[in-house]
Order: sequence, then C-alpha cells, then structure tokens
Amino acid sequence: MNIFDSHTHINSKEFANDLPDVVWRARALDVNMMLVLAYDQESADKLMELLEKFPEVYGAIGCHPENAQLYDHDYELAMKQYLSHPKMVAVGEIGLDYHCDTPKKAQFEALNRQIELAQTLHLPISIHNRDSIEDCYEILKKTDAAKNGGIMHSFNGNAAWAEKFLDLGFMLSYSGVCTFGNASEVREAIKRTPLDRMLVETDAPYLTPMPFRGRMNEPLMTRYTLEFIAKELRISAEDLAEKTYENTKRVLRING
Ligand SMILES: [Zn+2]
Repeated sequence: MNIFDSHTHINSKEFANDLPDVVWRARALDVNMMLVLAYDQESADKLMELLEKFPEVYGAIGCHPENAQLYDHDYELAMKQYLSHPKMVAVGEIGLDYHCDTPKKAQFEALNRQIELAQTLHLPISIHNRDSIEDCYEILKKTDAAKNGGIMHSFNGNAAWAEKFLDLGFMLSYSGVCTFGNASEVREAIKRTPLDRMLVETDAPYLTPMPFRGRMNEPLMTRYTLEFIAKELRISAEDLAEKTYENTKRVLRING
C-alpha cells in the first residue's frame, strides 16, 4: 500500500543523525510520501536538502504561532523565496497556540498575514491549533482560508467541531493523538469525517502513537495510526491508505 504522512518534521535536529535511515524505515512500512514542514531558517535549509535527496519528500514553510513575534517583512520575503521551489507545496504550519505565552495579538497578525500570503501565492495551508479552537475557527472562516485547500493538522476537536471545519472546506488530518486513552472525542470526530476529507500524519518527532509512547515518533508510525483508524472505522487499512494518500495529493496539488 501507499501511505502519505501529511505532517512531519524530519528536518528538525532530532533527526540529524538519523538520515537517510528514517526515510528508508518509513519506505519499508509503505510510508512513501511525506510533507515536511519548516519553521525557521535552519529547518528550512535542511528541508531544501531533503527535497533534492528524496523523491517522497514535499515541503511547506510557515511561522509557527509560538514564534509569531518574529514574523515580519524579512521573514515573509524569505518564505516567498523558499516557496518558489517546485516541491514546496503549502504554507504551514501556521495558526494559534494558547498553550504557549506568545501574545494573542501577535499570533492573530502572523496568522492573518500568512493566510493572505498563501492566497496571493494560490497555495494550500496547514493549520496548527492548540487550546484555541474558537478563535482559530473565526479567523479561518472570516478569511475564507481554505479556498486554495486547507489542512487542520493533528485535528483534536470533537465531532461538532469536525463538522464546522469540514464546512469551511478543510481536510482533517489525524495523528497518533487519536490512539490515546483519553481521546474518545477525537475518535468520535474521525467517525464523523467523510473518507474523502481525511488525512493521516505523525507530527514527528512529537505525538508518538500508542503503544509506542516514550519512543521518539517518526514517519513510519503513520502506519500504526492508519491501522488504528481503519479498525475504528471497520474498513481495511489498504482502503484507508489509498483514500488518505489520494486526499493528501489532491489538497497539496501533487500530480503523478
Ligand atoms: Zn508540526
């Protein structure tokens, strides 16, 4: 089968000594496409290297809400430069994070400006939301943010929220979080998500799925999350792999 990890950070320093092995291990478990997201200069330069080396790697860049205060004209220019690479297919991750102490005002501004940038460039976006779902929803709605395609990365809302974001045109991407004991609401959201709107991801090196908690996450683990979701939905892993693979390619406009 073919599995697409729609959100991973193998460009982060946690993987510096583990390349190319981490890509090969993923291939061995059929995880043969991945969207790698850059969040600063160092991770972006690493990503450029990965784009050249590995056919399965596609890229995105954004200013994470935690770093919203760093977002300025120069940051935006640098992003544009990186996004001119033909394998750079999305703006992200961008969004809101009320778990961190970055002022909300700066977060709103960075998010709004990056949505505008994505719309200028006709690119899809990958959204990060943590403890901020209401404000996040309002901004995305007001800006018609998914009009060129949008992904709610590691979607962790309940079924009612799932429907609201689906109505805005977003794809919902599920991570290892859905395997956690306390995530019954996320599992309800999964059951409410149409198969043609669902993606899977790791968010590696974070959010390791059960039963591998305590180990560092990596793209191959998309396989376990996918199998877990297929079981929840009582469909075959092959079917879910095929659907989520096609969905990810469609929203990121990757052909072939
Ligand atoms: Zn991420």
